[in-house]
Amino acid sequence: MSVFKMDNDIERVLYSQEAIAEAAKRVGQQLAHDYENKTPIILVVLKGAALWAVDVMRYMEYTEVEFINVSSYNGGITSSGEVSLVTDIQSDVNNRDVIIMEDIVDTGRSLKFMKELLVQRGANSVKTASLLDKKEGRVVEEDVEYIGFDVPKAFVVGYGLDYSVNGKELYRNLPYVGILKKEVYAPEHANLVDHEITPTH
Ligand code: 5GP
Ligand code: MG
Ligand code: MG
Repeated sequence: MSVFKMDNDIERVLYSQEAIAEAAKRVGQQLAHDYENKTPIILVVLKGAALWAVDVMRYMEYTEVEFINVSSYNGGITSSGEVSLVTDIQSDVNNRDVIIMEDIVDTGRSLKFMKELLVQRGANSVKTASLLDKKEGRVVEEDVEYIGFDVPKAFVVGYGLDYSVNGKELYRNLPYVGILKKEVYAPEHANLVDHEITPTH
């Protein structure tokens, strides 16, 4: 039963809270296995990956947690193509195993930018665990080693992912991932949103 006003802005739920919890467990346990006897740095990509990272890392052994913020989106629903470093990592990644925690990989530009930065700083290994992989959106070739869900090419919100309304980044705190109702988008963006897609999970 819906108790949140925000739920009324959602056209369709793609991944429920329960499905996401299962995905976090699956990915977390896989990471725990793959990084056994290592102490990786979990690099949380702000702000979108915060919820996902917290849920995944509960299943892991010794880790450190760091944060990075890169910008490529400029608040709209289409990518600007430019990636810049907004908030840098606070620790030295030299010789460390780094797991980039992403909310979604779309064009791959942000991921490429971060991977190059980490490699340049001497990281021993760099892998990515993303809640969502929007493979159809790729502009630069980037692989994601750990994936929650393969998401169809649509603009999604929730569980970390936002949509800016009047300069406010909303919907990050929804417990599920869904597609916004057309009327929530600015009219000039409405035609960019595919409402006909079928959920994959
Ligand atoms: P990329 O550099 O891979 O194109 O973009 C990655 C970033 O774009 C994500 O971290 C996210 O902030 C934003 N993004 C891409 N697709 C979506 C989407 O469907 N919904 C939302 N809210 N953000 C998206
Ligand atoms: Mg992101
Ligand atoms: Mg955003």
